[in-house]
Amino acid sequence: MAAVTVSSFIDGAEQRSTGRLMEVTDPASDRLVAKLAEADADEVDRAVTAARRCFETGTWRTSATDERQAALRRIARGIVDDADELARLETMTTGLPIAQTRFMMLRAAGVYEFFADFIGQYGEELYRQEKGFLTLVAREPKGVAALIAPWNAPILLSSIKVAGAISFGNSCVLKPSEQTPLSIGRLMRIIAAAGVPAGVVNMVNGSGAVTGAALVDHPDVDVISFTGGTETGRYISQAGARRLRPVATELGGKSATIVLADADLDRALDGALFSSFAHNGEACLAGSRVLVQDSIADQFITRFVERAEAIRVGNPMHPATEVGPVVTAAHRERVLSFIETARLEGGELLTGGRRDGAGCYVNPIVVRAKDNSATVCQEEIFGPFATLLTFHDLDEALAIANDSTFGLVSYVWSGSLEVSMRAMRDIRAGTTWINTPLLRDMHAGFGGFKNSGVGRESGWGSLEIFTEMKATIIGDGSNPIARIGIH
Ligand code: NAD
Repeated sequence: MAAVTVSSFIDGAEQRSTGRLMEVTDPASDRLVAKLAEADADEVDRAVTAARRCFETGTWRTSATDERQAALRRIARGIVDDADELARLETMTTGLPIAQTRFMMLRAAGVYEFFADFIGQYGEELYRQEKGFLTLVAREPKGVAALIAPWNAPILLSSIKVAGAISFGNSCVLKPSEQTPLSIGRLMRIIAAAGVPAGVVNMVNGSGAVTGAALVDHPDVDVISFTGGTETGRYISQAGARRLRPVATELGGKSATIVLADADLDRALDGALFSSFAHNGEACLAGSRVLVQDSIADQFITRFVERAEAIRVGNPMHPATEVGPVVTAAHRERVLSFIETARLEGGELLTGGRRDGAGCYVNPIVVRAKDNSATVCQEEIFGPFATLLTFHDLDEALAIANDSTFGLVSYVWSGSLEVSMRAMRDIRAGTTWINTPLLRDMHAGFGGFKNSGVGRESGWGSLEIFTEMKATIIGDGSNPIARIGIH
């Protein structure tokens, strides 16, 4: 099969880009599956210009709420109808198990439904504090949003941004990851078929250094929303600061799973394994720093290792596969390199490691670290790699959980209400799951403390990111006005 060439989508049309060709590979076979024509600064400029023109004409910006709601719901239906093919493309380029990508398509459709509901529900503000005046505070769309997304959940994470931006009337330019452009190309066609006017959603493909950098530095971009690595987030925040543009960042994590002796240990084991290895461990919200109370540690760790060894690793297109290949060969080598790093710092490899044969496969890795200062407890590995530590009491567990430059999420397993309340109060992370593995509710702002980012994506969080507050003060004619210029 000849590899297809993917290009940008601007003003409602796929482009015939002539940019540098980049290779997109299938991590299960190392096969070339597509070529991507990189958008250069001129092409990015055309995308931003199309978004700006569309915003200024007001076709979408000033459209009735129910028109936008209907379009968002048509996008949701389009994704559901096309979920099998979207999931196949996503699995082909990410290596994520097909059962998980299929599930993410339904979640992505739900995001458009959520925003369709949200824009029909939220109210704006009216104040009467000052006699004789009404003060109205309205929310206006910011303008042109630059949306930059990572490879580990292309449609879902891009959709949280696209739906958030356009539901409030913005236009946008999306730059997906250069490693996973295929499903996003199809999403653009679904959005156009849903009747969203040309120019509202544009997409440029290419590397971060060329296409991404041109987008975040474009003078006509009004707001930037980025999900990706912490160092990239730092760079993009600087680019935004130079132009005084707001930047929302959803970045990395190194999140703790705390298992206390009084927890339902069967569920805690399921949850700890799932939050470490689901999504091939390539999830910002992985709870892969597993802290176990010392009184139950031996038994819990033995069971954790047995189950990690039993995980079905294999062809991600197979519906029963639980862990597929990691995204690229270079990433596999990076993930594996942390085994040696752990050993050098006094850690012990309990299971997992290199898997022979074609494809970027890794057997799920479990390491017991010496203490929380170990690199494998501090750095985000972003692969099927769990690090185990033990603790004596809750105070120590909370201190270890917080001893991180990140603060994205945390997981706590305990039968005690007091523990839950302490965790809720004292863990410095944007989200804490108690007695459950990961699930996102779009009502709840998602984002991080510390190096995990700035801002929250959700209904209200996205409203903050993608709208400007505008105050209008109306006088009823009764207030005296100081009459100057009369002598
Ligand atoms: P990355 O930072 O390498 O790339 C993310 C996106 O930024 C890509 O589209 C890339 O092309 C672009 N980019 C890179 N350099 C750029 C530049 N100079 N200017 C503009 N754009 C640039 O991250 P990744 O490897 O694609 O994704 C993995 C990372 O994303 C992990 O750290 C993970 O924790 C994080 N992540 C965070 C969340 C969250 O919600 N907090 C969700 C998923 C992933």
